Amino acid sequence: MSAQKVGFYGHVRQYHNLKAELDAAIHGVLESGAYVLGPRVKQFEEELARYCAMRHAVGLNSGTDALWLVFIALGLGPGDEIITTSNTFFATAEAIWLVGATPVFVDIDPNTRNIDPKLIEAAISPRTKAVVPVHLYGQPADMKAISAIAKKHKLRVIEDCAQALGARGADFAIGELSDAVATSFIIQKNLGCFGDGGAVITNDTALTAQIAKLRNHGSPKRSHHSIGYNSRLDEIHAATLSVKLKYLDRWSDRRIEIAKKYDTALAGTSLQLPVTLTGYRHVNHLYVVETDARDHLQAHLDAQGITALTHYPIAIHQQDGYPWGRPARISGSLKHTERSAARVLSLPMYPELTDEEVSRVIEAIVAWDKTQAGKAQKVAS
Ligand SMILES: *Cc1c(COP(=O)(O)O)cnc(C)c1O
Repeated sequence: MSAQKVGFYGHVRQYHNLKAELDAAIHGVLESGAYVLGPRVKQFEEELARYCAMRHAVGLNSGTDALWLVFIALGLGPGDEIITTSNTFFATAEAIWLVGATPVFVDIDPNTRNIDPKLIEAAISPRTKAVVPVHLYGQPADMKAISAIAKKHKLRVIEDCAQALGARGADFAIGELSDAVATSFIIQKNLGCFGDGGAVITNDTALTAQIAKLRNHGSPKRSHHSIGYNSRLDEIHAATLSVKLKYLDRWSDRRIEIAKKYDTALAGTSLQLPVTLTGYRHVNHLYVVETDARDHLQAHLDAQGITALTHYPIAIHQQDGYPWGRPARISGSLKHTERSAARVLSLPMYPELTDEEVSRVIEAIVAWDKTQAGKAQKVAS
């Protein structure tokens, strides 16, 4: 069988599908002469805020900076503890360390792989100032429960929404129950530009002004109110993001459609499948299955020309050298985080996947599931 490979990313297909629009947008920026903090960033910020049904958005040069600058603007720093999870992309904790604060890791709910709100109160100390839930894989964390705890203990809440733009909870929207939302536009995210980009989205006008200053050397115009940084979203990226934002809901719908195909076809296998909570819009940034034979399945798929990756195979607290001389605290056991890290496998998931490709992935997994490695999982679980 000489079947085509099934890759992990659809960026180039996405570009080809929108080539005329994207090329025109980029060309327009080149001809305009305005490349930094010009009209396109402003326009995209307005569109993004409207898309999120929020008042403000500030374009920045990455999702990492979005988290970091919110922490700075909220006055978080050395001695402060910020509760989050160890089952996330490294940048979530990195931004906490960058401001000199202490990440406090609590375990995940093994079904959603998001922070388990039931474990948050036990992690709170007199130094705790904030909680950073991560909407991992595209499904919002339980913001109702998290914000109730935050209100009771007067904690800030900053949502790491790098993977979940366009998602919703059953009875809450992203941004509705927090101080600010941080997101990323690096190309592999659901809304990606042709390089690095990020944004903070918030209803807080003062916070918006503060972050807008911090991203531009502490300067709203020509005067410098404070020491700041250089963390701007570029005009070229903003122009392409404005084009792509119009398609985001359609792309999310296609991701959900592919997830349903996987759900249905793989339900009878030994794999632990992702759980979408009732009433949630899970935008399936990643479709992450779990199995004790993860490496075996990954190699099997690779041999069939299908790329599956791992997000994230090493939890942050298990990284080599952790915590690199920085403050850190683990609250209770992280057994679900550690078990998940050893078992996760992300299947190809992007709107440009064809139905034939989805079927190829499914057939390869079903065939593997009938082999010894697959059968052994059934006995073990
Ligand atoms: C991608 C990502 C980030 C960081 O965004 P960058 O734009 O790459 O800096 C932070 N948190 C999570 C959960 C992410 O997936």
